[in-house]
Amino acid sequence: MDYFGYKQGKLYAENVAVAKIAEAVGTPVYIYSKATFLGHFNRLKEAFSGLDTLICYSIKACSNIHILKVLAEAGSGFDIVSGGELFRARQTGIDTAKIVYAGVGKTDKEIIEALNAPIGYFNIESEAELENLITISRNLGKNPKAALRVNPDVDPRTHTYTTTGKKESKFGVDIERARHVFNKYGKNGTVQLCAVHVHLGSAGKSVQPYAEALQKTVKLIDELRADGFTIEAIDMGGGYGADYETSTAPSASDYAGVIVPLIKDKGLKLILEPGASIAANSAILLTQVLYLKQGGKKKFVIVDAGMNDLIRPPLYDAFHFIWPAQVDPSLVPPKKFRHLNPEGCEQVDIVGPICEGADFFAKERPLPAVKRGDLISIFTAGAYGYTMSSNYNGRPLLPEVLVDGDQFSVIRRRQTYEDLIAHEK
Ligand SMILES: *Cc1c(COP(=O)(O)O)cnc(C)c1O
Repeated sequence: MDYFGYKQGKLYAENVAVAKIAEAVGTPVYIYSKATFLGHFNRLKEAFSGLDTLICYSIKACSNIHILKVLAEAGSGFDIVSGGELFRARQTGIDTAKIVYAGVGKTDKEIIEALNAPIGYFNIESEAELENLITISRNLGKNPKAALRVNPDVDPRTHTYTTTGKKESKFGVDIERARHVFNKYGKNGTVQLCAVHVHLGSAGKSVQPYAEALQKTVKLIDELRADGFTIEAIDMGGGYGADYETSTAPSASDYAGVIVPLIKDKGLKLILEPGASIAANSAILLTQVLYLKQGGKKKFVIVDAGMNDLIRPPLYDAFHFIWPAQVDPSLVPPKKFRHLNPEGCEQVDIVGPICEGADFFAKERPLPAVKRGDLISIFTAGAYGYTMSSNYNGRPLLPEVLVDGDQFSVIRRRQTYEDLIAHEK
């Protein structure tokens, strides 16, 4: 589900032709669809409405404060991983009790900021961190709530870099050790250890790992309760699949179908931390063809966006559907699909201007013929797109545009050259 589509061969974001946005703000540019963000959020909310559920959108996926505001108004809480993200979350005016905080390396400064907010739950990643949280809370006279992040040793079968729920990962504590941690710290009198957190990693294509992890976690919660601990919430993390290709990810109701029955009679509040499943196909990265070039047998399409603007293809070996923003109506793609290859396409490498071999968006990809000046859309760029961008090669960060129906607004302006050196003066 998303609101990017072709009308008479021209690509639209909701009811705005993307070419019109390029004309107004230039390229490259990130273009977001408000209706897509809200559509994903509301489907998830609907699917889990049978439970006491708090959806905490994961800020690191896509963090523009105008987008956070849209989600906060729809009822979302936030999953943060740093003090900077806490600061962003607070720009929305949200009730800070709807914020959960994960991360293996929280600094004292960040912990104090979160205690003072005060946030809803600290997601504890190690015994050393819990000890530190207890000390700081005691000194400040605070009694925060915390969830122990457990590592259920389940493989979401995704890229190694986005796998976090296996034993060998740096996140959480091994599930067999969780009871020991509760026995040691569960009655410390300062930090209320009253929830369990699991996050398997990103880009799961199947609901099966969730069912597996949840069964293990619910069993743990039963044991902890039998040991005399009060467990009020289970946080199932994020990592729900997103449609990088049309209709390939499980839907919100597919996830609810396995999660809800396992916890509905447990008297547990459910927390979800979706990032990519909400943000990924809520944006495109619109870029312009600079040059065409032949190199040996290869044909290169050199565009004005680079890996500093969207690093997912080299970093995660990620697939992004890519298509010109204006095509002959016979070449309008019926869906986003890896093997789409209608007649009239050429096999090309789509690359950026950065001085790195890793600067590519696609290799040996069928693309309708393009020429210098044509606009090309890199789809499903909303998650870990802008938030991972950098100034590498002296390139100003891109503008972000939010489309709402037939209107669009610049929610972050393009950086200038002056911005590049502002902190060096
Ligand atoms: C990154 C992250 C998420 C969001 O993951 P997605 O794959 O974007 O859904 C949720 N929870 C935690 C703890 C994370 O680190």
